Formats: sequence, C-alpha cells, structure tokens
Amino acid sequence: ASKYAAADIASLITWKPGSPVPYSLLANTFEAIAETTKRLEIVALLVSAFRAILATTPADLLPATYLCVNRVAPAHTGIELGIGEATLIRALCEATGKNEASIKKAYEASGDLGVVAVGARSTQRTMFQPPPLTIASVLKSFRDIAQTAGNRSVDNKRGMIVKMLAAAKGNEAGYIIRSLQAKLRIGLAEQSVLVALAHAVHLHREGVKEREGRLAERLEAAAQVVKQAYSECPSYDVLIPALLEQGTADLLTRCHFMPGVPVKPMLAKATNSVGEVLEKFTDSEFTVEYKYDGERAQVHVVDAGKTVHIFSRNAENNTPKYPDIVARLRGLLKPHVQSIVFDSEAVAYDPDRKKILPFQVLSTRARKDVSVGEIKVQVVLFAFDCLYLNGESLLHRPLTERRQALYGALVEKPGELEFASAKTSRDVEELEGFLNESVEAGTEGLIVKTLADSYEPSKRSSHWLKLKKDYMEGVGDTFDVVPLGAFFGKGKRTGVYGAYLLGVYDPDTETYQTISKLGTGFSEEQLAQLADTMRPHIIPQPRKYYRWSEGLVPDVWFDAAAVWEVKAADLSISPKHQAAMGLVDPSKGISIRFPRLIRVRDDKSPEDATTAAQVADMFRSQAIIKQQQAAKQKEQ
Ligand code: ATP
Repeated sequence: ASKYAAADIASLITWKPGSPVPYSLLANTFEAIAETTKRLEIVALLVSAFRAILATTPADLLPATYLCVNRVAPAHTGIELGIGEATLIRALCEATGKNEASIKKAYEASGDLGVVAVGARSTQRTMFQPPPLTIASVLKSFRDIAQTAGNRSVDNKRGMIVKMLAAAKGNEAGYIIRSLQAKLRIGLAEQSVLVALAHAVHLHREGVKEREGRLAERLEAAAQVVKQAYSECPSYDVLIPALLEQGTADLLTRCHFMPGVPVKPMLAKATNSVGEVLEKFTDSEFTVEYKYDGERAQVHVVDAGKTVHIFSRNAENNTPKYPDIVARLRGLLKPHVQSIVFDSEAVAYDPDRKKILPFQVLSTRARKDVSVGEIKVQVVLFAFDCLYLNGESLLHRPLTERRQALYGALVEKPGELEFASAKTSRDVEELEGFLNESVEAGTEGLIVKTLADSYEPSKRSSHWLKLKKDYMEGVGDTFDVVPLGAFFGKGKRTGVYGAYLLGVYDPDTETYQTISKLGTGFSEEQLAQLADTMRPHIIPQPRKYYRWSEGLVPDVWFDAAAVWEVKAADLSISPKHQAAMGLVDPSKGISIRFPRLIRVRDDKSPEDATTAAQVADMFRSQAIIKQQQAAKQKEQ
C-alpha cells in the first residue's frame, strides 16, 4: 500500500484542480517507465499518474489513456498516427532553427528522432514562450494531424507539429516525436495500462483503507473486470466514461459487446491427434469444423443490412476490401434479422470449378478502393459463429445456442455464404475420416470446439483446439515469430542480411525472447525483399524488453514490428536461446531447429506472435509424442 500513499500523488499535482493536466505529467511518467522493466513498477508509476488526474481533472483520463497506448482512436476507426521521418525532420528544423544536415547527422548518431528532438530543443531560445502543452491539447493535435487530408496536407501537418514542438519543454519533444511516429516503445503494454486504470479508479473511489492482503485482492478483481470489459468492448471512448461514472461495479453490464466495435477474435490452441482431443475433452461435448485457410472476417450488420462492416482479426476495417460481400449480404439475411454480428472466414473461390482456393490467392486481392466490377478473386464466406443478434450480445451463451442463432439468421448460398462444415462425433475413426476430408477439401484441417462454452474474445482458449494434418505427421505447427535482429551476409549475400535472429513474445513478462536463427531456404530475391522491409526498423540498441544471450548477438537490431510465420523441424532445450526460459528448464530456453519462412504475416502484430507459454506447451507435447513413438517401436 505504501506505493499508493496519498502523499506521492499529491507531490505530482503541479496544476490547479479542474484545469487541463500538463503533458509533462505523462512525459515524466513515460521517462520513469522506460527506465524499468519490472511490470509491477511500471503499473505503479502509471497508477500514480492516473490517480493524480482523477483527483483533479478526471475528464483528462481518456486522452491520457490514448496517449499511453499511442493511439488516437479505437483501432476499427482506422484513424492512425505514423508520420514519416522526412516530415518530422523538416518540422524539427523549422521548430529549432537548425539545418537539415545537422538534424540528420544527430539522427544518424543516435538512431532515435526523439533523442534528436530533445537535444535540439535544449539549445533553442524563444522570445515568446507558448503556453505549456496539456494532455488534452496534445491528443487533439495528434487527432487533427492524423485526420488531415487533401493536397496541402503534408504542409498542414508539419505546421501543427512545429507548433507542438515549439511549446514542448524538457523531455516532452521526445515523446511527441516518438508518438507521432507511432513508436512510443517504452515497454508499456496495453494490458498494463488496463490494470493501471482499474487500480487507479478503485483506489480513487475506495481509498487505501483496507489491510494490504484484502486490498491486493480487490485490486486484482478490479483489474480482471476491466480487462474483460475491454476485451468485449475494445473502445476507451466507452470504457473510460463507464469507469468514471460508477467504477468497476457492474462494469460488464455498462460496457459490453455492440455492433460497430469489433472484438479481437477467439483463437485456438494446438493439439496433436484425435486421441489427444478426446482426452482433453473427456467431460465436454464438442463439435469439429473445417479450418478454412483464408482471412478472418467479423461481419457487423445493422439496420437489416443497410449498414455492413467487415473487420479483420486485428480489428481493422476491411469493408472497402469486400464490396462484393457487402452487396450480397442484405439478400442473405432472414426477414427477422435487424442486426447481427457473425464470425466467418473469407476464402478465395473459383466459381467455375466450384472450389475453394488457398490463402496465397486471396492475398493477391486488392485491399482498398475496390469496385465490385473489377474484382478478380472471388470470395466465399464460411460463417461459424454468431456473437450478436437483434440487440442482444450472445458472447456469454454456449456455442450450441450461438450456432442455432447463426443457422436461423442467415440464408446459405453456395459460393457466396456457407456455414462451416461441421460434425459432432466422439468416434476416433469418424473424426480421422473427417480430418482427411477437410484436407482434401483444401482446408488446413479441423477446429474442435466445446459446445457448452461462451465466446472468449482475444483469447487463445482451451475450448478451441486446432488439429492440422501437419501435426499428425509430426511436423508440428508453424510459429509466428518476430525478427529482432539480423546478421550481415557474406559472399553472394553481401548487402543483404544473411540470417535473422527470431523471437517469440511472452505476455506475462512483456518481453521478446529469442528462439532461433533463420538463415536458409531463401531465394536471393526474397533476401533482398526482406532486407528492404526490415531496414526501416533498425534501432541502435536492443530494447530493454528483449531477451537474448551474449553468445548470439546480431549485427543489427530491429524494432519488434514484423511477424513471420515459420515452420520448424522440432523444439529442443537450448543454452543459447531464451524462449520460455524457466517454463520447462529453470535456466535454459527452448529453440526451434531448421526454421523455414512460410510467409510474412501482415495481419498480425508483434504482440500476436507465438507466446512463450505456447512454445512450452509445444515442447511438452512433442516430448509425449516422442515417448509414444519410442514405446510403439519397442512393441514392434
Ligand atoms: P493461423 O496462423 O493458422 O491463422 P492463428 O494463430 O492465426 O493461426 P488459430 O487459432 O490457429 O489462429 O486459428 C484460428 C483462425 O482460423 C481464425 O482466426 C480463423 O481465421 C481461422 N478459421 C478458419 N476456419 C475456422 C473455423 N471453422 N472456426 C474458427 N476459426 C476458423
């Protein structure tokens, strides 16, 4: 409780209660957060800042939260920061009176435009000091910048940036620049922001009156509720007003799933065999469905089909990519359907041969400004879940009910909208037969789902298991890894990177941990292409939240930005790699051997990479398979 003492909060408050909170509060908090890698400390620092805001100007909690997560609006609105370097460098020149060559030189030396901005400011003297930046004004400027369009937009954006830089003091310019680049990167994950919000709101409303153990329990409960509410309704515009109004009590009834605000999808865990499925689901009823190889499409329909939105697995608005689906949907709703949200997979389709096509074909389809007449790759939607129907959220209903709702709401039409092929059986042979059929039909295998459980947004749930043909052949699942660094190429590969250092993500410690080195299986063209896409992500030093070993240090480090899907031979305990360190072996990590790049996953963000816990799970099930194989051989 001492870290939450009232005196600490009071010492932070340097502004008049009720007046806009200065941006310096956040800049100083960011600075302190960047200094530590301890999650509890990070949360405590943020809690203090949020409590200071709650005690004086609660309306600023919403803009402060957006600034902490380095966004200006919910993901589905598509309003994003990400100003190019050239514009920022020119703005820095204008704001500081320095020439471009000196700014660029400083940038080359430090590799961080934020550092350049702070250094450039300290020598600058101005006659008329503009008023200090406030949290609300910074967010407003960021939003204006993100939304400025038209032919003079670059100049207009630069003008707004120059104004902010001119008003920035001390370390503020650094965070302004990094936020504008959408590269705040202080090691502050969104989950920590949610926990801090919950703690701050609870402490603000209830005080620190309970004994320590009880208080810790209450804070933990509050954090769970806030995380759950945000996973069902991922919009701070809804969450924060609800928290300010009545705290965490009853939050889930006030902040729930609604059409227009996409949830992060429920995901599946890997499993090795039909036998393992039956073992894991001994006590639960389950169903199996084809796992189609396309793109997740969460379809939100309101006003009986007058408005349709299609969201990707990352909550991006994919509606402009699929005008054909939008056009056909109204005719596929049963008459009683006013509003519906359903989960589906959009899969490339050959209408002549009436066959589905692999993901690679779908990925050639244009992403934006598509007109129905110009579409070359046809798609069919395979619907598999219903999350909302006629004003009611179905997230907490069992799958049986959600399926009934789905089947009752939509009209199937071959080649346009179909329900995912499904089967309910516990018979090993029948299930194996269905798995073979699924692979022959051009899908990746099966997804096994328990029938009695609710929909768990943004979770890799143990209620959904994926069963791919690959696993059964012992090849294992693919890994989604993040390139963290690279080694310079030699000989023919001079000028490109010859190998990459790959990492996985551990959401529990919020660290990226190395798992392998990838250096074979590339064509020369691919090597050049990868080097081009990775160069802009070079950083001068590894991030504080990277975990690697001194025996394997790459020539260049990258920001955790890209996600690559790789296939590997097997997993082994490794003294050199840090993945899942402590989960299987107390002092060694796990590595994957002979990884090969399958595809770049533009649809995933680094925090969606394979997790340390998944790596540990895969290692354990590999060990079980090996034991089984050894036992079989002995029998023979
Ligand atoms: P992958 O790399 O194979 O896409 P992933 O980690 O992104 O895997 P998984 O949990 O393996 O996601 O599988 C869930 C994905 O499978 C969903 O996001 C969806 O796009 C796709 N999918 C295809 N058919 C189904 C289905 N019947 N039910 C649920 N998801 C399905």
